[in-house]
Amino acid sequence: MSLAEDSPVHSSSSDDFAAILEAELDAASNSSGDSVEGAEEEESGAEDNDDISDFDLDHERVKRQKVELNTGIVNPQSSSSQGATSENIVSSSEEEICTHPGFFAGMCMKCGLRADDDSGVALKYIDKNLRLANDEMTRLRDKDFKDLLFNRKKLYLVLDLDHTLLNSSRLTDITEEEAYLNNQRDSLPDLLDPGNKYFHSRIIAQGDCTQKFQKGLDIVLGRESTVLILDDTEAVWKENKENLILMDRYHFFASSCKNFGFSHKSLSLLKTDESETEGALATVLKVLQQAHSLFFDKECKDNLEDRDVRQVLKTVRKEVLKDCKIVFTHVFPVNFTAEHHHLWRMAEQLGATCSTEVDHSVTHVVSGDAGTDKSRWAVRENKFVVNPGWIEASNILWRKQPEEKFPVSPARCKQ
Ligand SMILES: [Mg+2]
Ligand SMILES: [Zn+2]
Repeated sequence: MSLAEDSPVHSSSSDDFAAILEAELDAASNSSGDSVEGAEEEESGAEDNDDISDFDLDHERVKRQKVELNTGIVNPQSSSSQGATSENIVSSSEEEICTHPGFFAGMCMKCGLRADDDSGVALKYIDKNLRLANDEMTRLRDKDFKDLLFNRKKLYLVLDLDHTLLNSSRLTDITEEEAYLNNQRDSLPDLLDPGNKYFHSRIIAQGDCTQKFQKGLDIVLGRESTVLILDDTEAVWKENKENLILMDRYHFFASSCKNFGFSHKSLSLLKTDESETEGALATVLKVLQQAHSLFFDKECKDNLEDRDVRQVLKTVRKEVLKDCKIVFTHVFPVNFTAEHHHLWRMAEQLGATCSTEVDHSVTHVVSGDAGTDKSRWAVRENKFVVNPGWIEASNILWRKQPEEKFPVSPARCKQ
């Protein structure tokens, strides 16, 4: 898996439209109306067999005039959800029906029709004026799907920035002890991708997303079955939880630790950084590699195009606590249905078997109180007794954590 050109924010599909956009922008600044050709490498749908691949701006201008004249027949698809208005009329001499695949500054990129609603998807991160119809999004997603899987053997990766790949702090929040960092600023390269190799300029801001305070793959030009997400925050990915690899949150600055309620010394104060071999990014890289090799596993009977990263991630997750049989004690509130508790479900997703009763096959007792019968039974029977943090840490680090790091004391978690 690589972050390079195959990132969903820089797929060849989005290049199609970037090329078209360039043509549009050129047209706006170039009154001579040079024609621009070959924006697409191939054709994949009957509906676009004329204009998109051969985007002739002189031709476009003529059609816009025709639209304005309102002569000809009514487009039967004018009431579709693609942003057409009642003015959606084309000349009969054109012998074509425009499906309005995309709008630039409110004008159909194919026929020049003006749209007055907000249907389709705004791709502000490509251009603030660009909107694509849902069908066109699907077509672009499908377009290089097979090449991606069969020839390039790649998947898409969406990366969060703050607390995942980096940590940010306001200059005013830099403490005196962190002032030494100021001296290093000039010697550091500009951010993450100085060669502009991985991200290009296609960086999606949260404001580019379709829902407030949410992130979504609906604006990404890759099929959801091929997109993995790295993020430290689960709540923002409501619609795409299954694509998400949740990261252990990266705190470098003292202000970041403070904001999240940690009292320990920050990495910046310790003048160190996350371990390159044991840190969260190193851990998650292994998960990505595992997911990639499972997805492209030659032994797998499913057709490559039917495979789904969401299923693959579930399989990888199930390896973490496989062969563990867990009983909980003094963890769930009284009268709570154990099977519905998030820790029970998390343990199952990690491949463990959960039970309400102890027997010889139990390997772990997850306990909120060392004094309960089950906790004492575990000690007697030489089973592991751990606090609930063991499951959560194993979950976020994608690896079974050493049990001794999660001891249970009698006074812990009294409910
Ligand atoms: Mg974040
Ligand atoms: Zn149109």
